[in-house]
Amino acid sequence: MRALVVTGDWQPRPGYVPDEEEIAGRWARNASQVWRHPQWAAATLPDPVLRSATDVLVRVRASGVAVSTLRMTATDDDGYVTLPYRMALPLVPGHEFAGEVVEVGSAVRDLRVGDAVAVETLRPCGRCPACRRGQVNACLDGQFAGFDIDGGLAEYAVVPSAHARSLEALRERFDDDGVFQVGALCEPAAIVYNGLFEVDRHLRPGMRVGVLGCGPLGLAAVALARAAGAARVLAFDPVPGRAGLAELLGADRGWSERDLEPAALPSVVQDETAGRGVDVVVDASGAPGEVLPVAQHLLAIGGHVVHLGVGGPPGSFRPKATMGRAATHAFSMGHIGGFDPVIALHAAGRIDLTPMVGGRWALHEGLAAVEHATDKRVAKTLVVQT
Ligand SMILES: [Zn+2]
Repeated sequence: MRALVVTGDWQPRPGYVPDEEEIAGRWARNASQVWRHPQWAAATLPDPVLRSATDVLVRVRASGVAVSTLRMTATDDDGYVTLPYRMALPLVPGHEFAGEVVEVGSAVRDLRVGDAVAVETLRPCGRCPACRRGQVNACLDGQFAGFDIDGGLAEYAVVPSAHARSLEALRERFDDDGVFQVGALCEPAAIVYNGLFEVDRHLRPGMRVGVLGCGPLGLAAVALARAAGAARVLAFDPVPGRAGLAELLGADRGWSERDLEPAALPSVVQDETAGRGVDVVVDASGAPGEVLPVAQHLLAIGGHVVHLGVGGPPGSFRPKATMGRAATHAFSMGHIGGFDPVIALHAAGRIDLTPMVGGRWALHEGLAAVEHATDKRVAKTLVVQT
């Protein structure tokens, strides 16, 4: 099968001693300590085969190129990757994907050949303390398709059926192409769904919401906040064009840095909310260290900050601004559990995230897709197969 792969050299940093498991499997718990000189390549690989009776074989129809996918080949001055996640190389990246079931294992009961599915890419271990508490999104020893096992930037992928969520309910409202686009957007949208409604749980109809960062997470937050009955949704992103996209997805108003400096955000929010501030701030900026001091000053009394983005330089946190507002912070990661409600909301016509797709490329043009995805003006780039 045709695929995109990332290759690299296994060269643990001086002073970093990989453990036995890492050495045996030639993978890294923290990619930035081990993998050097990463490169993208187009490759032809053997067609994957089912490994268990509960697996399904998926012909991939749409696969997102995420910021963290791009970070797999971003390097520091010494040539080491900057991504701090688990990573095994060589690898097929792609952790946001959807496709058509073309083969089912003998024990699969709930999916049939021809079904459209979106793929949950975290595979919890089932054994660690997080899994045993039911906190599977915090699994300490799970695998992650697209990072340490092969992902969706390929013609086919083998998927445990429990992690292939049916998209069939979308068929009445979306054409074939749209079904798989929604499917590829489920992963980032599910992260937001979990953050807002499973981990934080404070958003209520009639509340005012501020969204910081209008990449895929922020745009999904705008749409989900609107669907949840937010009275007013305000969106901010320094990249020109993304504020307009936020308005398209349901924000009452979006601002880019062309319109205002970050330091001016609190006064803008005060003006827009009659001096009250917003009840929920969603930090989807990808630079929480920088954004947190701003986020605190947007809050209404009793407000809440939901942190979704990771990365960026560290910042300094001053608790007083949150304490003085009797506010709270919630930190959330992980997508397990969020796919089905995101699919149901699309099937019911309550949200449509597909306008965030800014470019679609065929798999054989995949390296161009990777290049395209580095353009920050584009919210989401997809690699598609008809
Ligand atoms: Zn686990």
